[in-house]
Amino acid sequence: MQVFKTRSGLRTYLSEQRRKQVQVGLVPTMGAIHQGHLSLVEHSKAENEVTVCSIFVNPTQFNDPEDLEKYPRPVESDIEQLNNTSCDALFLPSVKEMYPEKEHWQLDLEGLDILLEGKSRPGHYQGVTQIVKKLLDTVQPDRAYFGQKDYQQFLVISRMVRHFNLPVKLVCCPTVREADGLAMSSRNVHLSSGEREAAVLLSRTLFRIRESTKISPGKAARQGFQTLGQHPLITPEYLEVTDAETLQPVQDWNGAPRIIALAAARVGETRLIDNVFIRGGYYYY
Ligand code: AMP
Repeated sequence: MQVFKTRSGLRTYLSEQRRKQVQVGLVPTMGAIHQGHLSLVEHSKAENEVTVCSIFVNPTQFNDPEDLEKYPRPVESDIEQLNNTSCDALFLPSVKEMYPEKEHWQLDLEGLDILLEGKSRPGHYQGVTQIVKKLLDTVQPDRAYFGQKDYQQFLVISRMVRHFNLPVKLVCCPTVREADGLAMSSRNVHLSSGEREAAVLLSRTLFRIRESTKISPGKAARQGFQTLGQHPLITPEYLEVTDAETLQPVQDWNGAPRIIALAAARVGETRLIDNVFIRGGYYYY
């Protein structure tokens, strides 16, 4: 695997590759690579001749400086894992490389950036669109791969790609879970053993909503939220059952062609998110 720290280095490599008429897949990450990230690399390798993974802890999407500082950055083991998956190239830029000057543009995300995750993390999705736009401009991939785990992020990026008419296909890949159902996340390393045990309640509660169709979606969501709140180590932030296109709550189980339950909770000090499709599933954009 070749490692590039500059945009120009990566672009030179990619233009050489493109002379061979290859297709390029991009997997953007913030590192602390786990099986969830590696599954995106595998998806990309199955569909493209060249796979580029990027690792960049994007400061503009953090509204909490402590969270940014605490974000794990095990670069050596990340490189090793990506090497073992036969990823072709790793883009590992510095903050200065990606943000030579302050970003000012903002995008109308049609309200997607102010609900659910956006409500708890003001400015987060504007930061996400800024960095993903820069990565897509740099790599100009045929396809870019994202995880369903950050489903709202996938919707926001789809909106951004439509807005700029970017010639890229976005692919939403299923969430990879630990054996007990906890969604894999770089933040899981912060969980103590008691918190790790508690954390499984997040996915368990979301999966239980699939079996709650005798009560309304709103009631199922409220009950799920209460279940989470009853655990001494868990502070739920939201749990909603929504239309998977708009992320607006649905009134009944036939209220939208695709329905998704999404939740965020603090387990101890660690903030975790997860989601489960109740109706329909993930899709290619
Ligand atoms: P992150 O490094 O957390 O920003 O994630 C980078 C990409 O990996 C995003 O598209 C995430 O949605 C995706 N991802 C993170 N965790 C998982 C998981 N458990 N399963 C599948 N994809 C994931």
